[in-house]
Amino acid sequence: MDHLQQEQSPRAMETICSFCGTGCGLTVKVEDDKISKVVGTKANASSHGETCVKGSMGWRYLYSDKRIKHPWIRKNGELVPGTWEEALAVIADKFNGLKEKHGPDSLGCFSSSRSSNELNYLAAKFMRTVIGTNNIDSCNRT
Ligand code: SF4
Repeated sequence: MDHLQQEQSPRAMETICSFCGTGCGLTVKVEDDKISKVVGTKANASSHGETCVKGSMGWRYLYSDKRIKHPWIRKNGELVPGTWEEALAVIADKFNGLKEKHGPDSLGCFSSSRSSNELNYLAAKFMRTVIGTNNIDSCNRT
């Protein structure tokens, strides 16, 4: 078997689930360059082969044709496709309006376990220094 054939054969990789802070071990099975199954890694000291539904099934959105691929903006009561520039302008306008009218603590940010530590740090920094609130939380703190 040559190098290319080895690359295309089914393989498994071990990783750590990043949906929450428990740190379950996952074994990701890959066939034809696509994930085919995810199971718990028995040797993982945190989870001993167990996972919750997020760990074992949370990858399926990767190949869904229902994934949102651009921002949607509500105009005259209807959601319409928009550009990132338009969406960010709407968000900035709404944030500034709420902050001006109700104060910085009227806003909050729920960050994501799907982001890196660095992006979560930036989200907290943005809320504290730009918006002026400590209303920041995330699902990755288990
Ligand atoms: S989301 Fe579930 S599988 Fe993933 S680390 Fe947390 S408990 Fe484990």
